[in-house]
Amino acid sequence: MRSHSRIAPALFGVLAACAADQEPSRPNVLFVFSDDHAAQAISAYGSVLNRTPNIDRLAREGMLFRNAFVTNSICAPSRATVLTGQYGHLNGVPTNRDSLHSTAITFPGLLRDAGYQTAIVGKWHLKARPRGFDHYEVLRDQGTYYNPVFFTPDDSVAYEGYTTDLITDRALAWLEHGRDPERPFLLMYQHKAPHREWAPGPEQLDLYEAGDLPEPPTLFDDWVGRSSAARTQEMTIARDLTERDLKLVPPSNLTDGQRARWDAAYAPRNEELATAGLEGEALVRWKYQRYIKDYLRVIASVDDNLGRVLDYLDRAGLAENTVVVYTSDQGFFLGEHGWFDKRWMYEESLRTPLLVRWPAAITPGSVNEDLVQNLDLAETFLELAGVPVPPGMQGRSLVPLLRGQTLPDWRDAIYYQYFEYPGWHMVRRHYGIRTRSHKLIHYYEIGEWELFDLEADPQELHSVWGYPAYAGIQARLSQRLDSLRAHFAVPAQDAVPYVPWPPDPAG
Ligand code: CA
Repeated sequence: MRSHSRIAPALFGVLAACAADQEPSRPNVLFVFSDDHAAQAISAYGSVLNRTPNIDRLAREGMLFRNAFVTNSICAPSRATVLTGQYGHLNGVPTNRDSLHSTAITFPGLLRDAGYQTAIVGKWHLKARPRGFDHYEVLRDQGTYYNPVFFTPDDSVAYEGYTTDLITDRALAWLEHGRDPERPFLLMYQHKAPHREWAPGPEQLDLYEAGDLPEPPTLFDDWVGRSSAARTQEMTIARDLTERDLKLVPPSNLTDGQRARWDAAYAPRNEELATAGLEGEALVRWKYQRYIKDYLRVIASVDDNLGRVLDYLDRAGLAENTVVVYTSDQGFFLGEHGWFDKRWMYEESLRTPLLVRWPAAITPGSVNEDLVQNLDLAETFLELAGVPVPPGMQGRSLVPLLRGQTLPDWRDAIYYQYFEYPGWHMVRRHYGIRTRSHKLIHYYEIGEWELFDLEADPQELHSVWGYPAYAGIQARLSQRLDSLRAHFAVPAQDAVPYVPWPPDPAG
């Protein structure tokens, strides 16, 4: 025993020296995930609509990815892909109706096994409860914008307030009181905002009220020159926004105080509308302004709250060794093509914002142009944590790109597939390939194709599929598409069942 007691201090010294040699230690990961936040509504991406100073701070101090895309532009499938690094046809979540395979291997679980403390706060939106986390507080289902209910492992707790603020409060509470300072952490801080129905918080109700915001050039698109799918969707600003979307009725669960504040903002605006007698294009323009202003108000709160979290990292001395990622589960149409919502392989919904701050490795103000995907995030976090990537994952770690390396063998094309037809907004099932310059889309249920020359036609208004001048590129893309489908093990026939739509109200 005595000899042990003499050895122990020396051994401790050796261990301490080893720890010092390994600096910097494994970084913390703060994953900031918003829902439906289009890059067109982030000033670092050149927004003509709004300013997002706190998200921009990540661009200024880190790296902005200009070509980040999703595998399937819809909520739950995108979340499942982030967690598993797999396409939906493998992880069990090709549509919002599906549930992650119970055997799915997720990066939070692997980080936890490797000694990370793992937590998720906010929107989860995958049917089964979170697995792989030491701590969770997640919104019930989609969650509400006001007065939400959070599920924890043992309980469900109702809070009064605005959900974007409350998610941030809960995330900060965990960072301050739940975090184990002896271990690296993963915190997934995930907003409901700016998902439909874009209900602004009390602080943002009057933002943007003065004057009109710019309209996109394609607000009155006639969808000529594309497949019939573009004409049969149900996601137009003109026809498909509900009274609740347009704030002609308030959210259903406001407290009396919240309701009074809400009515003070919207009642006079709605009275003005009632007396204006708008119709035709003038009414569409009014709807667009109502929609886009509410969407941006909701984002202003996301940005403010991100500022609170970044300030906390600074104050707590965590900023230096924490990788902060800001991204969304997909992009969104902000009136382009006359639409709201997502789902399509068209640029506005296929793209997603991706910004990463990591002081130890990223040159501040970097911009990356490589074709990257949400499929790559799990592999990235595993590499950051020094954990081997399991063979079933289908993306590729972004860590070399974050370090500023150029990889000659980085992908030159991405694969995409959307399955949820029939369903909300009635967007036809499709798959396709996007390269730096072209996009080929197959609406496989209806046997139609689109080919876009993204350099000549960046707004994707005119398909050149079947044009003799594009025969060569069409044949090459078609071949590449087949090889990508084989590479990603996509079944020849998609296995997603046809569920009757709209849902039976009695069922
Ligand atoms: Ca979403």
